[in-house]
Amino acid sequence: MSAPRTVEVGGAAPYTIAIAPGLLDDGHCLAAGIRGKHVLLASDANVAPLYADGVEAALRRARPGLAIGRFVIPPGEHEKTLVRFGEAMGALAALGATRDATVIALGGGVVGDLAGFAAACWMRGIDVVQLPTTLLAMVDSSVGGKTAVDLPAGKNLVGAFHPPRAVVADTRALRTLPKRELRAGLAEVVKYGAIFDAGFLDWLDANADALLARDDAALAEAIARSCEFKADVVARDPREHGDRALLNFGHTFGHAIETEQGYAGTSGDGLNHGEAVAVGMVLAARLSTALGLAPMADAVHLQALLQRFGLPTGMPAGLAPERLLARMRLDKKADAGGIRFVLWDGAGRARLVTGVGDAEVLATLADTRS
Ligand code: NAD
Ligand code: MG
Repeated sequence: MSAPRTVEVGGAAPYTIAIAPGLLDDGHCLAAGIRGKHVLLASDANVAPLYADGVEAALRRARPGLAIGRFVIPPGEHEKTLVRFGEAMGALAALGATRDATVIALGGGVVGDLAGFAAACWMRGIDVVQLPTTLLAMVDSSVGGKTAVDLPAGKNLVGAFHPPRAVVADTRALRTLPKRELRAGLAEVVKYGAIFDAGFLDWLDANADALLARDDAALAEAIARSCEFKADVVARDPREHGDRALLNFGHTFGHAIETEQGYAGTSGDGLNHGEAVAVGMVLAARLSTALGLAPMADAVHLQALLQRFGLPTGMPAGLAPERLLARMRLDKKADAGGIRFVLWDGAGRARLVTGVGDAEVLATLADTRS
């Protein structure tokens, strides 16, 4: 196997992201971040049957003395709860995990966020190694150190900043990912180009077929570039006081759509997160054009690229613009100054804008139908 692509994430607790096909079988790579002898392998019931035995066997080959426990939750966002967190604490206790223990998060963002938060709290903080198995987790949730669980009152309300000790992304694991989940991850990949680098959008356009066909080299390039963008902004602004907020491009609109639909994306009759972000990015680009900030052609190109990836780009039927506006006012990223939109001056150049008039927002929502 050739050497993996790596991305270094700086800051107070630096770590390396390794990206290559087959890394889940590479015990030395998986074990490199493990300091003690206790490992809790956390996963969900979709991912564990596919990959957990292989990961455990690879770890045992590399480190014969390890005590490895398993913690497997049912799949789905509704499992990212304090109840499952409590069970993870119980699993660490049963393992006899000491302060040098490691939690390994094998799965998508749900497992990563929950297992990361468990690691942040056990004995006030032990290591977590992220083994992301969705494209979204590889390009977004496993990088940057945010961990959380949901409450009935809202998503990600209880959490901690707890950077991983290492991230290992095996592009081959994406072969079993449902196509809709792959597309959702691609929406976040497109987002990095939209906010930081128009040239990356061109690259995505040129490589769209390879990415959809899950070509390892194309995926590794897209993941590495995405992680570089995120690592760079997180290093500049670890706690989201400034530039990190640009990562919310498309998300203010997207969250409003998701909440208005009651997070129906997983049950199939609403948009999932990536799909809602795709629509949200088109709305943000069009609002930018309406405000005279950016050329219409850039919004059209963005929309066409998202469509190539099979993502929706128009407002779902049945959502009233007024209700979405009201939702955005309640967003936790809004403050006394009103809604903070992430808009753009054109492809690759995003910025925060406050004080946008309701009339422009409502008109953009009404005009962007699917
Ligand atoms: P997910 O973890 O629910 O995974 C999506 C689905 O794919 C699940 O059913 C899962 O079991 C399945 N799956 C995962 N990998 C698979 C594989 N290789 N083969 C087959 N099936 C597989 O969802 P997600 O989109 O990965 O993550 C969403 C979560 O991430 C949300 O909770 C969100 O809040 C969080 N998130 C966190 C951050 C952060 O900075 N911490 C950033 C973005 C998103
Ligand atoms: Mg997102």
